[in-house]
Amino acid sequence: VRVTLTPIRSRDKGVAGVIAVLHDVTEAEKLEQSRREFVANVSHELRTPLTTIKSYAEALDDGAKEEPELAGRFVGVIRSETERMIRLVSDLLHLSRFDSRRAQLRREMTDLSEMLEEVVDRFSFQLRQKDIMATIDVAPNLNTVWLDRDGIDQVLDNLVSNAIKYTLEGGTILISAAGNGAGQLVIAVRDTGIGIPKKDLERIFDRFYRVDKARSRNMGGTGLGLSIAREIVRAHGGTISLDSEVGIGSVVTVTLPIVQEGSEPA
Ligand code: ADP
Repeated sequence: VRVTLTPIRSRDKGVAGVIAVLHDVTEAEKLEQSRREFVANVSHELRTPLTTIKSYAEALDDGAKEEPELAGRFVGVIRSETERMIRLVSDLLHLSRFDSRRAQLRREMTDLSEMLEEVVDRFSFQLRQKDIMATIDVAPNLNTVWLDRDGIDQVLDNLVSNAIKYTLEGGTILISAAGNGAGQLVIAVRDTGIGIPKKDLERIFDRFYRVDKARSRNMGGTGLGLSIAREIVRAHGGTISLDSEVGIGSVVTVTLPIVQEGSEPA
């Protein structure tokens, strides 16, 4: 809060009183602060791969390209760093699309079981690679729901991708969908992964927040997956939360209002 004081003078007695105006600048300042942090984070996240690419390109120029094996490895690094930047930029585009509730949802009638099966299919290669078993459980009375398929697909991709990234070989993932009796659809993605310490849980949906920066980077993470998921879920009028136990696993729960076809919630 900022305070401005204006003295009230009376003709004969000097200062007769004071007008105090309290300005609530906290919200505006907080917003500006988080905008500054965001720009700093984005710049840093982009500069890191760019610096790597530059130095590997220089090394190739300085003679590494004469050694085929070395050159191959360096080109590999350049490619994977480029891919990371592409992922980052496309994540940023997703964020800006769903930012600040301006998002235009494109809802369509969606078969829940089909949607969840297709998510698992998209990750079948990674699942097989880590020998992780993924199971789907859809409540029998749930068939179709009216939602932005692209948006919810993005949410599920982010959650399943995290579940795989942060689960050790041989683990399991359970994706479930059910009504909660209050007109809401609850989708949960549960894993038997490394878990998240309690102290980090509060900030886990913040942009660029990671429990273990090095691990996330090695896994190709951008630190934006959960914040994008949250924006999309909020645009649907829903909520998202994460519960976790270190060494036991995590569960992300997405709660969405069940909307009748054609009627959008206010
Ligand atoms: P990232 O691209 O780093 O995975 P996210 O926004 O998707 O970014 O997740 C933020 C952080 O939350 C991750 O870096 C990781 O530390 C933690 N995290 C997310 N999902 C899980 C999970 N299923 N199990 C353990 N940790 C997770």
